[in-house]
Amino acid sequence: MCEYLVMFKTLTPLWTGDAAGECNGLRETGILGSLRWWYEALVRGLGGYVCDPTDKDQRCDFGKKKSGETKDSDQGIHDVIDGSICPACQLFGCTGWARKFRIEVEGGIAVPEVSVRTRKKRNGKYLTRKTSGLMSSDPIAMRVVPLRKIEEDEWILLNRTLDIIANYGALGARTSQGCGVVSIVESDLPFGGGSVKDVKFRGHKKASSQNLNNFPNMKNFFFFKLKLGFRDVISNLINKEVFWTHASDDKFFTRVRGNWEKLWQDFSILPIAFHARDALRISLSKNGISENVLGKIGMGSKLFVSHGYKIDSGTVEMRIWGYGVGNEVKDRIKHRIKNALEGTLFAHDNFLQCCELVEEKAGADILGD
Ligand SMILES: [Zn+2]
Repeated sequence: MCEYLVMFKTLTPLWTGDAAGECNGLRETGILGSLRWWYEALVRGLGGYVCDPTDKDQRCDFGKKKSGETKDSDQGIHDVIDGSICPACQLFGCTGWARKFRIEVEGGIAVPEVSVRTRKKRNGKYLTRKTSGLMSSDPIAMRVVPLRKIEEDEWILLNRTLDIIANYGALGARTSQGCGVVSIVESDLPFGGGSVKDVKFRGHKKASSQNLNNFPNMKNFFFFKLKLGFRDVISNLINKEVFWTHASDDKFFTRVRGNWEKLWQDFSILPIAFHARDALRISLSKNGISENVLGKIGMGSKLFVSHGYKIDSGTVEMRIWGYGVGNEVKDRIKHRIKNALEGTLFAHDNFLQCCELVEEKAGADILGD
């Protein structure tokens, strides 16, 4: 079978690490997991049903449903699998049904680690938060290798998944902490011009109304792009150490000299996702809103922020997106984030000149494109 190539650039560090918290090289499983997450959100948004893979009674299991003769043959199998497993499992696999493609991806070097400490003590201690992940000055090649026939509709959905990731969201893990902003330079995946409006989900036994409400659904996404302009060139601000890194009574903070500079000079990154999350928390602090959407123990975040990536010497762009949070949250972010950032970005004074919402997109609009 043919192989295809997607070339992408990293705008913020890509994180595909293991359970131990190490990210020494790009891991295909980390990329695939992220592709699947966005693909599932897209399918749900388009009215398809996606199983809950964390629930062993609810998740698809092809072996359990059908046995024997049809399982290993591609001949006439579509009617069988369409009824048995959900569209995401059909492409990405589940028990008894192998994934339809594999990917190979390599490249990237580890970015210098930058540490920021929490503003408040947790259990009597300040905690360290680190920037890490892989970036590459050259585009990274992701080879897509089909292992069995991928349907036209599946290619259309996969193309749109990559579009959404590259234009509005992020790829890999730690996307709520700054990582994974990429742009696609080139892609030769088939059916790139297809429209998701024409995709049909054939006769699955469960209707989209059975999708669980709290799962990501493209219909309920919003995407913001902010442009942050500073009062001086960013390299000067970094040299003057104006960005917040730790509280004044924090004895255990250690600065690795030069890493902020290296991150900016060599990788065009301003590591401010942590500051932005703090700013979101401040913008949303009312009646437990921030806890509900920014996550707490045992509950993931529904809001995601990127680090700043360079537009020019005094300007960065930053992405903020989320799902299922409602209009009040979006409006609060829109109207309060500048003030909140002025308070969280800097150790003293305010060097933020402008914070402009340069693009706003609703998931529902993406589905209609
Ligand atoms: Zn499934």
